[in-house]
Amino acid sequence: MTAALPSRGCIDTPVLKERGQREVFCGLTGIIWLHRKMQDAFFLVVGSRTCAHLLQSAAGVMIFAEPRFGTAILEEKDLAGLVDSQTELDREVDRLLARRPDIRQLFLVGSCPSEVIKLDLHKAAERMSAKHAPHVRVLNYSGSGIETTFTQGEDACLAAMVPVLPATPARELLLVGALPDVVEDQALALLAALGIAPVRCLPARRSGDLPAVGANTVFALTQPFLGDTHAALIRRGARHIPAPFPFGEAGTTAWLHAVATEFGVPQALFDTVTAAPRARAAKAIAAAAQTLTGKSVFFFPDSQLEIPLARFLTRECGMTAIEVGTPFLHRDLMAPDLALLAEGPTLSEGQDVDRQLARARAARADLTVCGLGLANPLEAEGLATKWAIELVFTPVHFYEQAGDLAALFARPLRRRAVLRNLAPLEAAE
Ligand code: SF4
Repeated sequence: MTAALPSRGCIDTPVLKERGQREVFCGLTGIIWLHRKMQDAFFLVVGSRTCAHLLQSAAGVMIFAEPRFGTAILEEKDLAGLVDSQTELDREVDRLLARRPDIRQLFLVGSCPSEVIKLDLHKAAERMSAKHAPHVRVLNYSGSGIETTFTQGEDACLAAMVPVLPATPARELLLVGALPDVVEDQALALLAALGIAPVRCLPARRSGDLPAVGANTVFALTQPFLGDTHAALIRRGARHIPAPFPFGEAGTTAWLHAVATEFGVPQALFDTVTAAPRARAAKAIAAAAQTLTGKSVFFFPDSQLEIPLARFLTRECGMTAIEVGTPFLHRDLMAPDLALLAEGPTLSEGQDVDRQLARARAARADLTVCGLGLANPLEAEGLATKWAIELVFTPVHFYEQAGDLAALFARPLRRRAVLRNLAPLEAAE
């Protein structure tokens, strides 16, 4: 097993707090992966045409399948028109639910426009839940770009579900975070092999499988951006198992070990169950690490995955981190990863994009991880970049994806090396 080094790593590193302009997608983006995960849920964005465009261009237009997300577009209205808006929204929802009996959970998702902010979506959700229960449960959360960065949409969605989960006195393990089904199945298989049961997931694939929660629930987060969900579960009496996040071979082993310790799994069984997948993961990482070793990386704040990924790249791929930016630094959730991140990088929280761009240009890291909007200009300035959003849309958790995760970072460096080799040839032609 990988024991944590006796180090406090970056736990005591002072954090540069920035509160300027930021360049991040809004929380509506989470609907793209949440609607795939929750197979009987519908996400109704109450928003503007901009919100509808964002969703359609990010999710693609489905021609054959009925989509499970949509936008109720509110036009500009004065306050007197708000009553009409509520009635209109009720009518839209009635129509939708009558047409789509497959929908068992409906999320009203708030957005930025002032007309939406004035609407009380929580009351609307309660009113609709009362009307459509028990067939459909209606909940609300905000995906507004004023309040959320793109991964916070998932956090807001899951946090909205926690108060209405049924109560249980049972001792159960709850895995929290929307993982692709194939990755979730791998995690469940490992936990089953360790003899850990019963295990539930939030979100569940179908509303009938929603977990219950209570004072004997222990939960492990699979995503680092779930601060509000973590707080909501603790309010329900559940207990968090602190652990590094399951990225890479060492991260996955440390995460599994924390859960195994909680459930009293013997060390010998742990070693037997994890030996083969650990070896596969280490081999796969080593292949990509040939490109990454000795290179530097600079993270702009985007997905909140930055600190665990910096830990993975520095400890398992031989990279050096120059700056690790994160939209929010949740100390309780990040402590195990911060402890394993070697001292050295600047840690920054929030963003002042011009100042951070100046630091990135001065650092000229071998690889800059940033949002889509910054990647092209930085590429034009000769920096190799990685789109942060790919790290959320690609399966990257646990052992079997560890090599793919390393390869995601290696690809832009390989591409740059190929282009560099081609340049003299083109010049000679
Ligand atoms: S929620 Fe706000 S930031 Fe997001 S697409 Fe709608 S208007 Fe734009």
